[in-house]
Amino acid sequence: MSDADHPWLDDARARLYAERAHDRLAHGLLLHGPAGIGKAGLAVSLADALLCERPQRQGAACGACRGCRLTAADGRPHPDYQALCPADDKKSISVDQVRQLAEFVHLKSQYAGYRVAVITPADAMTHAAANALLKTLEEPPAGAVLILVADRLSRLPATVLSRCRQVALRPPTATVAAKWLAGQGVEDPQLLLALVGGAPLRALDYRDLGLVDAWDGLLADLLQSAGAVRAAARFDKLPLELFLLSLQLMLRQILRLGAGGECEPLGKEREQGLRRLSEGVDWVQAHRFHDLLLQARQRQDHPLNPQLVREELLERWNRLMRPRRLKG
Ligand SMILES: [Zn+2]
Repeated sequence: MSDADHPWLDDARARLYAERAHDRLAHGLLLHGPAGIGKAGLAVSLADALLCERPQRQGAACGACRGCRLTAADGRPHPDYQALCPADDKKSISVDQVRQLAEFVHLKSQYAGYRVAVITPADAMTHAAANALLKTLEEPPAGAVLILVADRLSRLPATVLSRCRQVALRPPTATVAAKWLAGQGVEDPQLLLALVGGAPLRALDYRDLGLVDAWDGLLADLLQSAGAVRAAARFDKLPLELFLLSLQLMLRQILRLGAGGECEPLGKEREQGLRRLSEGVDWVQAHRFHDLLLQARQRQDHPLNPQLVREELLERWNRLMRPRRLKG
């Protein structure tokens, strides 16, 4: 799927292409915004456009020139392009990787055009790696463009932020996102979008992981006060983060209903289930559970045993969230 299939990025893309056309493109760009909205795809499209020798009138790569043929060649990247991401078995980008990238950027372009590097996710750079990038960001050789991609600016040092032009990318509106997902064959986009904060590409990934079935199963289990072990096992093939997001979404609806509000639009059956789940809940306990959930989210990157974390939370849910009249 090409980045041009993400219409919510059209404006940002058009601005970047126009800057390139007027020779005003910054040497260090930082594309940032929520995960799952297509930032990396936009970075690659921009790189392709920069390496194209005859861009189209709107600025996109032509797909036919020598530069585009080199970009499209199987198995090896364009000689003036380099992508930097964490090595296969690593979570971070190392200082050695950044040093190699800096050397690459300082070589002369092989085709007298741009030399482009995409760093994604840039917030995966170690502190030393980010420091090693500073000099290149500060005094980039002519024709070099570094495109950094990051979900969270707070994870990047201020020294990097101040040396890049920041391009904020936003998720589409709910209507645009739902329409786009429908075009990808997602029949029931509301739940997915609510779970992922409206990020359509993430919603698509999670659909493929079976998140909707797990969520609906969990809601049914909670309604029947099923045992924590069984309910927790519904998420055993999914990252712990998705279990925590799922519980958080349910709890948010219960708190909204308790405050006299309405559910978010999740589909009629789910809304009815959540309404039943919210009946008789003790609000003090519900807020206490909310705090537990936040603590679990803060620790989610280092769980000792995800199944145990899930079971423990569900046991707490059963204790705190069940109406008093059902207890004992
Ligand atoms: Zn071209």
